[in-house]
Amino acid sequence: MEFTYSNFLGIWQIFIIGLAVLSALAGIVIFITHRLKITSLSDYKQKYDYIAANDTKMILYTIVAFAISITAFINSVYHDTVLLSFIWFCVRMFIALCLGTLIVYISNLMIKFAYPSTLERKMKHWRYKPRVNKKTGNTMKLLSEDEEDVHLDEGMQAEENVFSVDYDVWVDEETGDVQIEKYPGHLIAHQCNSCGFKTMKLVKEEIVTSPTQESDGEMIKYYKCSYCNAKRNKNVKVAKLSQTETHYELPAHLHFKNEEKVNRVALEIYISNGKTKVFEFGSTKQASEFLKEFKIED
Ligand SMILES: [Zn+2]
Repeated sequence: MEFTYSNFLGIWQIFIIGLAVLSALAGIVIFITHRLKITSLSDYKQKYDYIAANDTKMILYTIVAFAISITAFINSVYHDTVLLSFIWFCVRMFIALCLGTLIVYISNLMIKFAYPSTLERKMKHWRYKPRVNKKTGNTMKLLSEDEEDVHLDEGMQAEENVFSVDYDVWVDEETGDVQIEKYPGHLIAHQCNSCGFKTMKLVKEEIVTSPTQESDGEMIKYYKCSYCNAKRNKNVKVAKLSQTETHYELPAHLHFKNEEKVNRVALEIYISNGKTKVFEFGSTKQASEFLKEFKIED
């Protein structure tokens, strides 16, 4: 049998419809498995941790699977027209690939900029949903920052004081049973080699060799543990200076859900000499404009 363009199209049609169906099924399976996993975890803290680590990833996988399915499906339509010439096969392929890429690209943008607030709401729900004491069935009470310190050891308190870890303490007021849960804090601190707590903070940075446009520089970072005072330093490379200076700009489409309720926008800028600068603005537009003008003075 001679292998003709129409034979090829026949095989292609079976292959591409199969791919469309399979990837749509994969998308459904990924999404359902993810939902089932969340439902199956009975512990609220475990739900929180699972969502924090996997939710964004799983939603993106689901979208990619559906995007592949749509791309494949488009590659199966207008069969009679495509049969006329191979050019039409290429045109259809091109349109399908563009559309598939666009779906993934836009979804990715939405996940990056719009989804985090939804995710945060989900995570807050599981973090603050009243715990139930498994032994007594009593509803537990979440202690305030001031009340919880008696239940935390000194190392844990030190971690809270540098904002690297946040502990939630739940108490069964009838029996006095305590449940302590660990959450990441607002600021970054590293784990101390000596005491094991997350209380190692960067205190100073020293440039040994300044970077030039031709070669990397070198810098020493000094860390100190705010609990046991252990010290550590680390040599790090400083990247070559770029030829063209580019300024960071906030994305133009960054809008808060209720923009009118936003009072201030804060920008925290970490400069390579170890200094930090915080600037506050009334809107994201103002902040963007400031960044165009911002220069680090010596
Ligand atoms: Zn330490």
